[in-house]
Amino acid sequence: MTTPGTTGLILEEPLLCEQSVKGRIGFSLPPSGVPESNLSNLPKSLLRQKSAELPEISEVDGVRHFVRLSQQNYCKDAGLYPLGSCTMKYNPKTTEAASKIPGFANSHPLSTTEGMQGNLKLIYELQEYLAEISGMDFVTCWPAAGSHGELTGMLMIRAFHESKGNPRKKVIIPDSAHGTNPASAAICQYEVITLPSNKEGILTADAVREVMDEEVAALMVTNPNTLGIFEENILEICEVVHKKGGLVYCDGANLNALLGIVRLGEAGVDVLHFNLHKTFSTPHGGGGPGAGPVGIKKKLEPFLPTPLIIKENGTFNLEWSRGQSIGRVKAYFGNFGMLVRAYTYIREFGPEGLRRISEMAVLNANYIRKNLEGTYHLPYSKPVLHECVFSDKLQKEHDIKTLDIAKRLMDYGFHPPTIYFPLIVPGALMIEPTESEPKASLDQFIEAMKTIAKECQDTPEIVKTAPHKTFRGRLDEVKAARELKLRWTT
Ligand SMILES: *Cc1c(COP(=O)(O)O)cnc(C)c1O
Repeated sequence: MTTPGTTGLILEEPLLCEQSVKGRIGFSLPPSGVPESNLSNLPKSLLRQKSAELPEISEVDGVRHFVRLSQQNYCKDAGLYPLGSCTMKYNPKTTEAASKIPGFANSHPLSTTEGMQGNLKLIYELQEYLAEISGMDFVTCWPAAGSHGELTGMLMIRAFHESKGNPRKKVIIPDSAHGTNPASAAICQYEVITLPSNKEGILTADAVREVMDEEVAALMVTNPNTLGIFEENILEICEVVHKKGGLVYCDGANLNALLGIVRLGEAGVDVLHFNLHKTFSTPHGGGGPGAGPVGIKKKLEPFLPTPLIIKENGTFNLEWSRGQSIGRVKAYFGNFGMLVRAYTYIREFGPEGLRRISEMAVLNANYIRKNLEGTYHLPYSKPVLHECVFSDKLQKEHDIKTLDIAKRLMDYGFHPPTIYFPLIVPGALMIEPTESEPKASLDQFIEAMKTIAKECQDTPEIVKTAPHKTFRGRLDEVKAARELKLRWTT
């Protein structure tokens, strides 16, 4: 029997300390000719009372351990990674190679300005490219993540209003926003006003008009939003906000749908952040490092974080102090390796290539949407951009929920999509294939999803108790989070 997909995910490997065998060593060097030095002059408090409890293993044990771990770590290089909102696209090896060019990889953050001309030129040009792509006037590359970009942007918005004598009190955020948006607004001491989207899953100018007043510092809108739908009223919404002196913050984490097609700056957006680790193919890396550059309009220029890179007669200098700047947001020069990768990606594809990326991302998402429509419930039927959101409404009839479907997908060798997000869709399954998937892998995924839907009718127990092909079965996730079991055995 053949099954769609590849194999189950593998999740079992003993800890190194559990593999430890007393006296086993991982190297053999000739005896050292350096005489042992006497440490008795050192304060006793600095000396170890007993040896460090390190695992004792051979070289082959160590290599195999890490190779096996690397193989358990499901990755984009292994297959489809349809995590909605995360844009898990394939990272081309050219960008990896560029980031490892010794002049970049070994550059020291405390080097002199003359010593880092190449780095500064690259960051400066990346800022220009991102401004060109988005229609913004300036870009800063220092923030280390999308959420960090939001914080940087909201601090600039607060500084802007303060410079006019009143920081204002509120920030409007639609209910389809990413959770980091209200968090960033709250950290900047704003009260969050949640605005419902309409039946089509978008924001209307009238809804904004109703709550917009002179106490509102900004509207934070994600475009395309977390349902994967383009906020088509953005022009009018920006006008409504500007009329009352507010600013528009656009969460640009979903820019993968818009490259070369829409320049949000031209729609009236005042602040926009980019997720280089989504749109511009830098690795998401288990929680970091990422990069979240922020684009702004000219009126916010005095508040840009320091240092600023200034180009004078072909030389790049750093401006460290600027009266109204929000100050530094990151040590040294951002996550520089990410900037090298994004720069390389933009240069490699060029304007036509970038547009093609977005077209293919949108095509792939709609291909999945159309093929699974009817098999899974689609709460919003509007054509989507880069991702589509289903719910478990049809499978609920068989007492099956989103979590079960996600777990069963692992048996078919697919990383599950994002689940239970966005919050406005109960039991959401949020699928973002990205442009890097060939049709064959989309078809395999669709077949697996259809097979699971059929199992929900015929053999629901199999789905409810999945996964079956992984080394570990269904985990009690609450217990795992509440009763942490930290092992250390020697
Ligand atoms: C991913 C994402 C963020 C947060 O970005 P991080 O780099 O994870 O901090 C914010 N908004 C949206 C819409 C996103 O998809």
